[in-house]
Amino acid sequence: MNKGIEIARGKTKVLFEQEGQPDVLVVTQSDTISAGDGARRHEISGKGRLAAQTTGRVFRLLNLCGLPTHYLSGGEDDDNNQMLVRRCNMIPLEVVVRGVAAGSLVKRNPGLQRGALLVPRMVEFFLKDDANHDPLIDPDTIVQRGIATPQEIGAMTEMARLTFDILAHAWRKRDTLLVDLKIEFGRLVGGDGKGMLVVADVIDNDSWRIWPQGREDLMLDKQIYRNLENPSGEDLERVKRAYETVADQVGSFPQMRPGMVAVIADSNAQAEQSGRVVQALQIFGIPTVRHIASATKTPGYVLQLVQQLDATFARLLFVAVGGTDGALRGMLDGATSNPVIDGGADAESVALRCAKTLALEDTVLYGRTLLVQTNARSAVLQADAALQG
Ligand code: 5GP
Repeated sequence: MNKGIEIARGKTKVLFEQEGQPDVLVVTQSDTISAGDGARRHEISGKGRLAAQTTGRVFRLLNLCGLPTHYLSGGEDDDNNQMLVRRCNMIPLEVVVRGVAAGSLVKRNPGLQRGALLVPRMVEFFLKDDANHDPLIDPDTIVQRGIATPQEIGAMTEMARLTFDILAHAWRKRDTLLVDLKIEFGRLVGGDGKGMLVVADVIDNDSWRIWPQGREDLMLDKQIYRNLENPSGEDLERVKRAYETVADQVGSFPQMRPGMVAVIADSNAQAEQSGRVVQALQIFGIPTVRHIASATKTPGYVLQLVQQLDATFARLLFVAVGGTDGALRGMLDGATSNPVIDGGADAESVALRCAKTLALEDTVLYGRTLLVQTNARSAVLQADAALQG
């Protein structure tokens, strides 16, 4: 890595140019921890390394899900705390998503029960302005001040919700409640998709509230530090241990749990439909095997195939394509302990049903499913707008 000149320095990170690559920056996270808009600050040796690991792993998960981010590589491994990102013009907003009432929301709304579930999730914008304690700002004012367009506000809201949902799923798998989350956005300065809005900055243990087992008293995030008025060395050690635990748990966020979908067609006449299903599954990155086996003509082979596939793959779904009166699906259902899905519907719906089933245990697939649904929804809205227009 050819770290060039320093171009910016925040409270907890330093940005450098990457020599020879004007559209790429190197981000290094520092050991500083601060609260009260920087009024109180301490150094925790090794915190920057842990923050870079957490950020790298979170962003790699978001990239795998297909969410647009500035992250390219690094931060996670033995790379001297150097993360490579695409250069952005940052939008001076903190976008906060809340799934559970806590923090400043409860302070502003004393009638709101702390810990109450927020449905739908709430999205708030804060102006980045330390001198004025990052005030809440409404969408109209954001537009009036030329900070972002209405379309960008809509896109940030959608992307922030998706980011929250993906990370909430990952934490839920670890029996931990994601309470709220702060992210920031930028516009790509150059290269492919120049001007595009992406999730940028860092997402680390300072950016969220996380409550193991849904219990605030077990919190693992920066709130531990915020709650300490005059932290002792021992207190700071405790904070560091929490950051280590989090970096460690986030380490497995981007791991896919590969599942397999066996697409079984009842006859050669269904080969085309089974091909469409396989293609639709590829959009989610789900591996497939294809067979032709008939419930009426080769029932023995169907049973043999099920036994073979069940014994080979740990996470397996069957899709039954064709067969008279659901005979193939019925036979598969009777023979396997794995789920069987009817492959007769349109291929996209069949693939979505498979993805949802496998996503129960796989955050990457869960995120990809959310993105496919979001894109389908906006395509429907656009089509409807075109009809009305
Ligand atoms: P609140 O508005 O309740 O204080 O914070 C909401 C969420 O945004 C919390 O998860 C909190 O950690 C995060 N957050 C708020 N302000 C900042 C900030 O200046 N920096 C970082 N990293 N996170 C923040």
